[in-house]
Amino acid sequence: MLTKEIGLDPDNWDDIKTLGYLIIDDMVEYLKNIGNKPVWTPVPQLVKDELNKSIPQQPQNIFDIYDDFKQQIFPYHGGNIHPKYFAWVQGTGTPMGAFADLLAGVMNSNTAIGDQSSLYVDKQVINWCKQLMNYPADGSGILVSGGSIANITAMIVARNTIITNSKNAGVYAVEGKLTAYCSSETHNCMVKAAEVIGIGNQQLRKIPVNDNFEIDLDALKTKISEDKANGYVPFCIIGNCGTVNTGAIDPLSDLLQIARNENIWFHIDGAFGALAKLVPAYQDKLIAIEEADSIAFDLHKWMYMQYEVGCVLFKNASAHRAAFATAASYLTAHDRGIAAGPETISNHGMELSRGFKALKVWMSLKEHGMEKYAAMIAQNIDQAFYLGQQIKQHPELELLSAVTMNVVCYRYNPGNLDDDQLDALNKELLMRMHENAIAVPSSTILSGKYVIRAANVNHRTRLHHLDEMVAGTIEIGRILVKEYESKLFKFDFLIHK
Ligand SMILES: *Cc1c(COP(=O)(O)O)cnc(C)c1O
Repeated sequence: MLTKEIGLDPDNWDDIKTLGYLIIDDMVEYLKNIGNKPVWTPVPQLVKDELNKSIPQQPQNIFDIYDDFKQQIFPYHGGNIHPKYFAWVQGTGTPMGAFADLLAGVMNSNTAIGDQSSLYVDKQVINWCKQLMNYPADGSGILVSGGSIANITAMIVARNTIITNSKNAGVYAVEGKLTAYCSSETHNCMVKAAEVIGIGNQQLRKIPVNDNFEIDLDALKTKISEDKANGYVPFCIIGNCGTVNTGAIDPLSDLLQIARNENIWFHIDGAFGALAKLVPAYQDKLIAIEEADSIAFDLHKWMYMQYEVGCVLFKNASAHRAAFATAASYLTAHDRGIAAGPETISNHGMELSRGFKALKVWMSLKEHGMEKYAAMIAQNIDQAFYLGQQIKQHPELELLSAVTMNVVCYRYNPGNLDDDQLDALNKELLMRMHENAIAVPSSTILSGKYVIRAANVNHRTRLHHLDEMVAGTIEIGRILVKEYESKLFKFDFLIHK
């Protein structure tokens, strides 16, 4: 017999309240003034050491734990909550989104099964996601952790649709190897998808792109016929709606047509770019989204919501369900009681236990409404065009790809250096820009050239933040050229391409 039963709730609930108010006060003050803080601060070695210690054996005071958080963790966030953050494609989050995560945490709802509100919210949010994309109302979908899993989920359904008994026999059920098609600019998660669905990355055909980084349609058609002639089984075309390097949009309507002619699946990776669908100027270009067999997009990128939440939609709801539905005795539905709830969401994806990520989507969409999001996304696009203009106008800066949406690729180019030297100079420039907290863009390689890359999915950015990045680029660029001339800075490291 236990002498005293224990639990994990606090002994002193008032302390929890006090700490809660303190956290809210601190966080609100921080976010209110975030523009005055450095965009990025490197994690000091002392902190790294601290974060390498072994598991605590004894309890710690909750106020001390919060202090540790404030000392060791919070100052060294990744920067994506800051108005001068443009690296990779990372969303900003909102205060209400943070509250939603807190409330979801209090409910600690396992949004998988049972007659509970979270499943109805999840379902409503999926319907709202269809409305965002003007997608058929009888389609289905699921919220997942992000674009990668959304894309993989789509590929699983595409594979199972072409191989009707794949659940039993796997990829062996088809005669000939399955092949999928996408452009060479496609996100790396599609390679992973090809690997995990068992077709192998060699069977993911990377089709070359044109000067605008869009898939070459003739090359695609040629490759499909060649593959068919050689006994392969084409089953899926993947269109990019916003490539990660330059924001390029493949000719989606043409891809849709080719997929229909071939009678194969058409999937769109619209991780961030699909949200441009809310902007009237992009509606024609993105109209094929409405007819795609599946579309993957993130809400934690260009819908500014807290990590993690992505979505994948399917036109054919029964194909979606067929890929994942399984019977399990412990999941049996009942007529009444909690087990009488909606169908388990595990019948529509890989996960059983799931958090209540739908709540932040639900609360955010209520807070702002779809029109505000459309205006916000349009503003990010306008800002990117503005940045492109600033770069074009400056003789020491070079724009490396046409701005078509919200991604800008450029480099500092004083005019008297070769490509290798420019690669080295711009790589050093980017690192100094981060270290001096000027702004945080990232980099990529375009046509063999190292470029500084700014992707704008930031609701806190204003034009002056972009001006500061441009001015900082020029200032550091000039310093580097001077250092080079006085031999302080040598271009003695070359970029790994
Ligand atoms: C970000 C991104 C992904 C991956 O999405 P995650 O949410 O990071 O998993 C896939 N495709 C594109 C084009 C992306 O930008």
